[in-house]
Amino acid sequence: MNFPAIAKQTYEKLRSQPAFSDITHFIIEHLKKISSPLERARFVHHVVDEYNKEVFAHPLVQKFLPCKVGCSGCCHTQVGITDDEAELLAERINDGLKIDLNLLKTQLAVGNNPEDFYKLSQENRRCIFLGSDESCQVYNDRPSVCRTNAVLGEASQCSPHVGEGEPQTMRLLKTERADMAIMGSFFTARESGTIANMVSRFISMNNEPAPAKKTGTRKKSIFKDLVL
Ligand code: SF4
Repeated sequence: MNFPAIAKQTYEKLRSQPAFSDITHFIIEHLKKISSPLERARFVHHVVDEYNKEVFAHPLVQKFLPCKVGCSGCCHTQVGITDDEAELLAERINDGLKIDLNLLKTQLAVGNNPEDFYKLSQENRRCIFLGSDESCQVYNDRPSVCRTNAVLGEASQCSPHVGEGEPQTMRLLKTERADMAIMGSFFTARESGTIANMVSRFISMNNEPAPAKKTGTRKKSIFKDLVL
């Protein structure tokens, strides 16, 4: 199982505290009751967004958060997703969203290994869902990890545009409760891995007609009234 590094660090630090470990258990138990992979992914995204709302609403965060449309430093890092999230993203492609298949294949070649990923050039590390205007083409369905990737400080500090390798100066917001929820989703996942590795399992790689959908039509979230 490939866990997202930041969420895993948070989990290791806070797992002994019931106020946090209960979040992970809540997610695990709730996901067991949902049969649709797409709804499972949307449920986790909803919970992560709810926990992040409190963090993002803080006046200091509002003042110093530089993240905005077109600022895509985070989208050149290795993002881990679950198989549920992969199916959600693959549905967008199978519905007609165009992605760069050559870029996908380049990223597939390095597997889930972060060291090999960060040896790729800046251009080859860009997320397959990052549009030519540097905005996310799947924003509403973006993975949980992307929802917690928000930084404080100057945007230039987290941009890996200069040189190679993983950005070291990124100062991520503390999204601990969201991280604990993310870990619950990864514990429950059948598989997890990088966006390229996971999404490629659910799409045609040869510009052939998309495989038959396994799930129903897209629905509005049914979790908006969930009390956390
Ligand atoms: S899914 Fe969207 S937000 Fe996440 S890395 Fe890709 S482009 Fe960025």
